[in-house]
Amino acid sequence: MRNKIVKNILVAVLIFISILLFFSTLSLPQKEEVAKLTLNDLAKGINENRVSRIVVEGEIIKATFIDGKKGETKKEVETSLSETLRNFGVAPEKLSQIPIEIKEESSLKFWASILLPSLIPVIIIGIFFWLTFRQARSGASQVFNFGKSNIRLFTPFKDRITFADVAGLKEAKQELMEIVDFLKNPKKYLDLGAQIPRGVLLLGPPGTGKTLMARAVAGEAGVPFFHISASEFVEMFVGVGASRTRDAFATAKRAAPSILFIDEIDAVGRERGAGLGGGHDEREQTLNQILVEMDGFEKDAQVIVLAATNRPDILDPALLRPGRFDRRVVLDLPDLSDREEILKIHARNKPLAANVDLRQVAIRTPGFSGAELANLVNEAAILAARKGKNKIEQIELYEAIEKVLLGPERRSRVLSKKEKEITAYHEAGHALVAACLKHADPVHKVSIIARGQAGGYTLKLPSEDIYLRTRKQFLADMAIMFGGYSAEEITFGDISTGASNDLQVASEMARKLVTKYGMSEKFGPLTFGKTQELIFLGKEITTEKNYSDAIAYEIDKEVEKLIQRSYQAAKKIIQKKKGVLEFIAKTLIEKETIEKDEFEEIIKKFKIKKEEIS
Ligand code: ADP
Ligand code: MG
Ligand code: ZN
Repeated sequence: MRNKIVKNILVAVLIFISILLFFSTLSLPQKEEVAKLTLNDLAKGINENRVSRIVVEGEIIKATFIDGKKGETKKEVETSLSETLRNFGVAPEKLSQIPIEIKEESSLKFWASILLPSLIPVIIIGIFFWLTFRQARSGASQVFNFGKSNIRLFTPFKDRITFADVAGLKEAKQELMEIVDFLKNPKKYLDLGAQIPRGVLLLGPPGTGKTLMARAVAGEAGVPFFHISASEFVEMFVGVGASRTRDAFATAKRAAPSILFIDEIDAVGRERGAGLGGGHDEREQTLNQILVEMDGFEKDAQVIVLAATNRPDILDPALLRPGRFDRRVVLDLPDLSDREEILKIHARNKPLAANVDLRQVAIRTPGFSGAELANLVNEAAILAARKGKNKIEQIELYEAIEKVLLGPERRSRVLSKKEKEITAYHEAGHALVAACLKHADPVHKVSIIARGQAGGYTLKLPSEDIYLRTRKQFLADMAIMFGGYSAEEITFGDISTGASNDLQVASEMARKLVTKYGMSEKFGPLTFGKTQELIFLGKEITTEKNYSDAIAYEIDKEVEKLIQRSYQAAKKIIQKKKGVLEFIAKTLIEKETIEKDEFEEIIKKFKIKKEEIS
């Protein structure tokens, strides 16, 4: 933009100068030896008959002498030549013998004197515009560029990320290795008439490394990698999504072989015609354009489109058709050994104390995503720095787990003595019930220090990675929820608001057991209600009722039965082990937190045996 303006101005100036030069050279006399004369000399020469010719050009008088010499002088302004010379004592009859030629003023001067006065304002205005425009340009450039995608290019050799930087995810790597191989040796595949994969969709929960994996593919293949987030297609102006899409694809094609990565494609790729936003909107046009572009690839175009999403369920089926994103690579949450690997990768350039055992950290973090583990290591480093240590120790890593899980501790929240007591008994109730039930997850920590939203917390973690939960486990979980409630009830004969969240979670769980998981005795393997996720809120908000009111009544009764069963189980445990409850609560009031080992010792001391919910 700016270069163009400068160029235009330069061209204008050059044209102007060349016009001037042209006219001036046309009429410029050849250069000759010209001596400066005074008017006196000239007058004397005329009187002595030595002047053969005189030319007057404006004020300039050019005299040619008989001996061939030439001289030049100026006459007085506003007087005629004859008058001037007469004033210098030239006899009129001498002057009349000499041929006198009167010429127009020099053409250079003539043109300049005509053009300059009119050109100067134009030039000044031009410069003024240029300056103001240059200032406004920075702000306005986005306006002029709005049809362009702000696509980012990662050159594969700078900050190169390879598969070695991505822990675990073996199956995904294997699948993507094929893509890499294709980009490296396309000929091998084309010679066999193989269809080149067009689009690969990376699926997985948030933070499992989809973006990271895409960059690793580019790094492995050593090809240009264009990165754009789908939401940027539709960012600022309405109606630019389609042209940005075109631009992004065109850019990638020009650089082929290359990878075009569309992150968070669900932002534009949602099922068309679904949801609340009206049918024919910006998103839809952008999505249509993506489909058109992917269909428009020539057979041997070496551009592979990678896309990532954590909501494959809401994607438009047209995107998943053969020839588009027909390959799907699933990135799962990491299992135990993968978690250890991820921790190792992120601890690589951080000083760890000799006592650090990342395996133990991995054991305590089931369900953590790669991003959460990366965050965990970072939090541990921050904690260690805050404590003035120069190495990260195991304790910081453990603390970081809780910070990532529950939010930062809020030690500043001041509890009154009574509140502290209630919280202590409440948490002791959770912990005790958990310790007594066979199908409950082991207790890792009990604390009455406020964290995030919670007043206190009992941290239970499954002892291994679990993908399925059973009915017995659900019942145990619900009983543990009621443990806090029962402990308050039995100890103080009163209930506080601190239990409300537990109750809510427990009743939601009970309802799901009946209507979704087929875990009630009465209905057995039946599910009720059809939940539909409304796209824009991304949450379950409507449940279509596909059963009669009579069934609804029965469902409510079943839910209540489950709740009563787990509540009574919790209550029975608390009543029977009141002594243990009191011991745990007192310890909590004194120390505020009980760690896993200490808690297990208490359980051993009171010889607690695990039982099943009857
Ligand atoms: P997603 O795109 O799936 O939401 P990202 O790729 O942005 O997740 O991951 C966020 C960060 O988490 C990465 O930058 C990386 O530091 C870390 N991470 C996630 N998965 C892994 C993994 N498998 N190995 C190493 N680091 C990981
Ligand atoms: Mg991402
Ligand atoms: Zn509670």
